Amino acid sequence: MGQRFQNQVVVVTGATRGIGKEIAWAFAREGATVAVIGRNAQLAEEVAADIRKEGHRAEGFSCDVTNGKNVEEIINKILDKHKSIDILVNNAGMTKDNLLLRMSEADWDSVITTNLKGVFNCTKVLSKVMLKARKGKIINIASIIGITGNAGQANYAASKAGIIGFSKSVARELASRNITVNSVAPGYIQTDMTGKLKDQVKEEILKSIPQGRFGTPQDVAQVCLFLASSEADYITGQTIVVDGGLAI
Ligand code: NDP
Repeated sequence: MGQRFQNQVVVVTGATRGIGKEIAWAFAREGATVAVIGRNAQLAEEVAADIRKEGHRAEGFSCDVTNGKNVEEIINKILDKHKSIDILVNNAGMTKDNLLLRMSEADWDSVITTNLKGVFNCTKVLSKVMLKARKGKIINIASIIGITGNAGQANYAASKAGIIGFSKSVARELASRNITVNSVAPGYIQTDMTGKLKDQVKEEILKSIPQGRFGTPQDVAQVCLFLASSEADYITGQTIVVDGGLAI
C-alpha cells in the first residue's frame, strides 16, 4: 500500500459492485479521493462508507451514465467540492446476451447506450475539465469480447469494440494536452456479470484460459492503477488485455 494518488480525485463509474468497486478501493488505498458512481444511490453510499471506515476518502453518487444531463450535474457536484478531477475510469457496463436472430432492438439499444454512450457522456464532460487543467488520465473498461467477438454477444461486442475505437480517437484529440486515454480489455473476471453464466459454460471457458484460473477484480484494478500513474505517462490510445492468456 502506498500513496501514489494522494491529492488526486478519481471518478469510477459502475463502482457499486464487481470490478468497479475494486477499482474504487484500489485508488482509495493509494491515497486518492474517490467518487463512487452507480445508479443505486444507497449502494454507492454504502461502498463509499466502507472505504471511509478504513480511513480512506470516498463519496457515493447516484448517476445514470446513459443520461448526459445527469452526468454533467453529478460531475459539477464533484467539482464544486473537490475543485479538480484527475482520473476517470469508465467502468459501468451491462450485458443482454442473445443470438442475433433473437436479439430485440431494445436489448441492442440498452447495451449500446449503457456501455458506449455512457463512456461518451462521461468522457465528454470530464475531458473539458482535464483540458482546462492540462492533465488527466482516462481509462475505459472494454472487454476481450470487443476484440475477438463472441456468439450471443453481438450487442456487447459492438459496444466494447466501439469503446476501443472511441478511446483511440479521443487519445489522438487530447494527447497534446497531457491527457492519456487507454482501454483495459478484461477476459473472464469473477463478478455478478459472469456469475449468471451456466456452470457448463464457465467450465468450457476455464479450459481455454492458459493460466488455468478466472481473473479477479484485483487483476483489472492493478492495471488501472498503472495506467493512471505517472509510470504510464507515455502510453496512450492502447488496449491492455487482462485475460490470463485467454485470447492469445
Ligand atoms: P457488474 O454487473 O458486477 O457491475 C456493473 C456496474 O455498472 C454496477 O456497479 C452497476 O451499478 C453499474 N451500472 C450499470 N449500468 C449503469 C448506468 N446506466 N449508470 C451507472 N452505472 C451503471 O459488472 P462487472 O463488474 O463484471 O463489469 C464491470 C465492467 O467490466 C463492465 O463494463 C463490463 O462490461 C466489463 N467487463 C467485465 C468482465 C467480466 O468478466 N466480469 C469481462 C470484461 C469486461 P448500478 O446497477 O447500481 O447502476
